[in-house]
Amino acid sequence: MSFKHLGLSEPLLKAILAQEYTAPFPIQEQAIPAILAGKDIQGIAQTGSGKTASFVLPILELFQRKSNSRTLHLKVLVLVPTRELAIQVSDVISTFAEKLPTQVKNMAVFGGVPLNQQMVKLRNTEILVATPGRLLDLISTQSVNLGRIEILVLDEADKMLDLGFEEEMNNILRLMPAKRQNILFSATLDTKLDVIKNTLLCEPVKIEIEEETHNIELIKQSAYLVSPERKGPLLRYLIKARGMQQILVFVSSVRTADNLVVKLKKNGINAAAIHSKKTQNARTEALRNFKTNKTTVLVATDLASRGIDIQFLPFVINYELPRSPKDYIHRIGRTGRAVSSGEAISLICPDDQHHFGIIQKKMGKKVESIDTTDFDLGKY
Ligand code: AMP
Repeated sequence: MSFKHLGLSEPLLKAILAQEYTAPFPIQEQAIPAILAGKDIQGIAQTGSGKTASFVLPILELFQRKSNSRTLHLKVLVLVPTRELAIQVSDVISTFAEKLPTQVKNMAVFGGVPLNQQMVKLRNTEILVATPGRLLDLISTQSVNLGRIEILVLDEADKMLDLGFEEEMNNILRLMPAKRQNILFSATLDTKLDVIKNTLLCEPVKIEIEEETHNIELIKQSAYLVSPERKGPLLRYLIKARGMQQILVFVSSVRTADNLVVKLKKNGINAAAIHSKKTQNARTEALRNFKTNKTTVLVATDLASRGIDIQFLPFVINYELPRSPKDYIHRIGRTGRAVSSGEAISLICPDDQHHFGIIQKKMGKKVESIDTTDFDLGKY
């Protein structure tokens, strides 16, 4: 199957080619024609499946088709759970849209930056990517009007509910015209989604992509057994001796993240942290620099890492283990996504061994252990 058979026109096909996407992913094969036909979508898919392009491409195609007859107002709303995902989705829209003859203005809005800054930029926006709380703020100042929305996308709907956005989502749904196309993506389809799914979707096309377990098979996992006081030197040794680039390091607290960055920098390794105590601008910049290889190491806490999408991320290091096996899989899933393979390394202290055993059991996969007692870490 090629993108040509999905109903996309030449300008979109060229924009896809520029991204070096050679063939559609399964979710794209199924979602693109259905969205172009005006159908509702119920999609079960993880980050990494290609779900973003699966709704962005047909939506941009619909804009191209109506280019002559359209007036400039807000037509598409994409609701997402986090700021990071908002920026990411908006970046994907911009990347494809800038290659098209019909210009479409899209914008991401999220909390943590002054409301005024976003209000002034909203003029003529046709596609808005928003987190629920900030969207309601903008609606209350009458900067956004949902009265003429034609397409609603709920991306990572399960995470939005997990983050407690149910009431906000319902308030937002009430402000939209009843007649519209609805696209819902979620990593799981458990009962907590039932209400929202049943009120939202009308005879949806159902798409289910199993991704995460396949991805795990692509990832080379290893565990380095180390004493707590040798953890920092071991991390620097691994990075330097192996000449690693683009390493996402996970820690469990903001303090450890900041301390680790200081230590790495002192040892000549370019590093930045991304966590909840950083300003939005600092987070965005850290992510950009990491994506463009200006920063070698990005140190992140779990929440800040949600939805980070970087093509071909080669290394994930668990400096500290997460509490739940699910989070472990989520973390290492940052690497080995889509078609690329990657490496996930965990630094395991004696106290972590029992917990790491549980993680491996839940994952259904044994991870190779490496004893580091004989490693000469003196100069690291
Ligand atoms: P997503 O699940 O939307 O976060 O996408 C995961 C990654 O796959 C992103 O880095 C995309 O750029 C990439 N991607 C999406 N569709 C394709 C495709 N058809 N071919 C190659 N890469 C793709």
